Amino acid sequence: MEQVAGRAPGSVALVAISKTHEAEAIAQLIAAGQRVFGENRVQEAQAKWPALRAVHPDIVLHLVGQLQSNKAEDAVAMFDAIHSVDRPSLIVALAKAMDKVGRRPDCFIQVNIGAEEQKGGCAIADLPGLLAQARDAGLPIVGLMAVPPADVEPAPYFALLDKLARDHGLPGRSMGMSGDYETAIMLGATHVRIGTALFGTRPPVAA
Ligand SMILES: *Cc1c(COP(=O)(O)O)cnc(C)c1O
Repeated sequence: MEQVAGRAPGSVALVAISKTHEAEAIAQLIAAGQRVFGENRVQEAQAKWPALRAVHPDIVLHLVGQLQSNKAEDAVAMFDAIHSVDRPSLIVALAKAMDKVGRRPDCFIQVNIGAEEQKGGCAIADLPGLLAQARDAGLPIVGLMAVPPADVEPAPYFALLDKLARDHGLPGRSMGMSGDYETAIMLGATHVRIGTALFGTRPPVAA
């Protein structure tokens, strides 16, 4: 896929999204060589990953779900990257947590690329201010993350995220999921977040 897209081999990280899946299913992927995983809830990750990591200390864990400020410390302690930095109060909480815990996970600013009311991510207009605040606070911002609107052609949204990242001098673009990762890679993704295509469909989420 990287070659078809004219991208250097190894330039796109596959983040295997293991949310809702049991340790047994995850262990199969680890056995197949996968080391980079993503979860969307801090508590679920705390329940599943310490045991797996005890056996495989080279596991890299990404948080891809919305993060409450009161979970910032737990998130900083557990994850190697956080894709959902999207508001001033969370930047403050993460900076404080990083100082306290003594770890500095890579951070992505999540952009609400389709301006959808119910979605996480900052408004495009708020991105410059948020980036400045995050850099001032000492957060290691490595890129941008977005989830485009469902059921429409995602390419324009991926192209827009790529442009925003370039405009702000950021190397990382976390974009592309099971249904659209090929398009995302064509348009510059550095991290694709793939769940269903690796693990099969997830059980419905309890309300
Ligand atoms: C669940 C999730 C994914 C993976 O989605 P699939 O369609 O199963 O590949 C990617 N990114 C985020 C933010 C998610 O919550």
